[in-house]
Amino acid sequence: MDPISKLTQMFGRFPGIGPRQAKRFVYFLLAENTAYTRELIDYIVRLKKEVSHCPTCFRLSLTPVSQQCALCSDQSRDSSVLMVVAKDIDLENISRSGEFNGRYFILGGLLQILEKNPEQKIRIRELTNLINNMSQVGLKEIIIALNANPEGDNTADYVRNTLTPICQKTRSESSNIIKISVLGRGMSTGTELEYSDSDTIKNALKNRQ
Ligand SMILES: [Zn+2]
Repeated sequence: MDPISKLTQMFGRFPGIGPRQAKRFVYFLLAENTAYTRELIDYIVRLKKEVSHCPTCFRLSLTPVSQQCALCSDQSRDSSVLMVVAKDIDLENISRSGEFNGRYFILGGLLQILEKNPEQKIRIRELTNLINNMSQVGLKEIIIALNANPEGDNTADYVRNTLTPICQKTRSESSNIIKISVLGRGMSTGTELEYSDSDTIKNALKNRQ
């Protein structure tokens, strides 16, 4: 395939970018000097080399591969509460609000209604492992913090149903009670965490059930 068609196709896969905008990107690159395109290529290569998933919370981080991110290795954070979010950008927004000082876990997406392979779409196995580990060191609450839309609700139900037996098992083994709560009251329908302000996050946290 010729480079104009190929790059148009590749930019067309970017979130929110249609074929017309994709083609504008290609013409923009053609008009730029070689130093610019060279730098762009270098940084794309560096991005894939230097950014990796934290092995604990799965957020993207600049720490070396297989080392915990700054949030997970921060001993001042409360390990008795774990907040489960869909994406990195949700974590960043909640973290910026300063309303939550516990631990995080990134599911990696949301489940469509009637999704046939949920365990392949989100990190449910990794979450289960983390909860098994955290239950040994005083985990008391899991907060499911997902968007207030049908996919968010569907995913929250799936996560809650999957985690409930694990939480009950820990309870019978160690009398440690792990509560599962869902963030949402105080967020109106259609609210996306990515775009929520500090007050919305604060209220949603206060009114979780
Ligand atoms: Zn982490």
